[in-house]
Amino acid sequence: MTFSRPSIVGPEAGPELPFPVKMEGPVISGFGRGSKELGIPTANLPVDAEATPWIADCVSGVYFGWAVLEAARPGEAAAAEAKGVIGGVTSKLGDDEDESKKRTTAVSGLYPMVMSIGYNPFYQNTTRTAEVHILYPFAHDFYGAHLRLAILGYIRPEKNYDSLEALVEDIQFDCVVAKQSLARPGWTPAGQSTALAGAEGVTADKGATNGTLVIPWLLG
Ligand code: ADP
Ligand code: MG
Repeated sequence: MTFSRPSIVGPEAGPELPFPVKMEGPVISGFGRGSKELGIPTANLPVDAEATPWIADCVSGVYFGWAVLEAARPGEAAAAEAKGVIGGVTSKLGDDEDESKKRTTAVSGLYPMVMSIGYNPFYQNTTRTAEVHILYPFAHDFYGAHLRLAILGYIRPEKNYDSLEALVEDIQFDCVVAKQSLARPGWTPAGQSTALAGAEGVTADKGATNGTLVIPWLLG
C-alpha cells in the first residue's frame, strides 16, 4: 500500500507554537487491549486535568516528539491510581518500589516517540487517553517509570479503520513520519546527534552532535 501523506511534517527550522508541549507522569497500565500483541506497545500516562489542562481541548490525533524515561519516583504511580486514573499499576509493579526503581533506571534515556491523544474510536472509548509508543525495542516493560514528553508536532487526526491491519499500517507510517521529522537538526535536542534521532535510544556521547533544538526542561 502506498501512502498519500507526507513522510516529514513541520517546518525545517523546528517546532512551531504551541509546541513544545510538556506532559509527564508515571507509566500506568492501559486497557490491556493488546497494543503489544500488535507490535505497538503504548505506555499510558495519567490524563490529569490539573497537570495538563490543555489536554481537554486539544485536537485528537497522533502527535510526535521526544520521550525522556527516568527511574520510578516513589509513590508517584500509587498516587495516580488513587486519583482514579484508568488501569492502575500496582498489580504490575508488585509492592516493592525499590525493585521497580531498579528496573526502570535501566531504561533511562532520551527516545523518539509517537503518541495518540484522544478517544480511540476504533475501540469506542469514552475517556480521553494519552498513550506513547517509544521508538525503541525495549526488552522489558517499564510500568511505574517516570515519563516526560516534549510533544513537538501533530501528525494526523484520529481515524476509524475497517481492520486491525489497516490500523497497524497507518501507525507504522506514523513512526516513519516521527523518525524522519525528528532527524532534522532543528528538531533534535542540542548536544544530541541527528544521525541517531529516530534510530534508537539516544545518548549524548555517541558521535557528532548537531542538534540545535533547545528545550530547557526536557532532560530534567
Ligand atoms: P497497556 O494496555 O497496559 O498499556 P500495552 O500492550 O499498550 O499495555 O503495553 C504497554 C507497556 O509496554 C508499557 O507500559 C511499557 O511498560 C511496555 N513497553 C515495552 N516497549 C515499549 C515501547 N517501545 N513503547 C511503549 N511501551 C513499551
Ligand atoms: Mg498501552
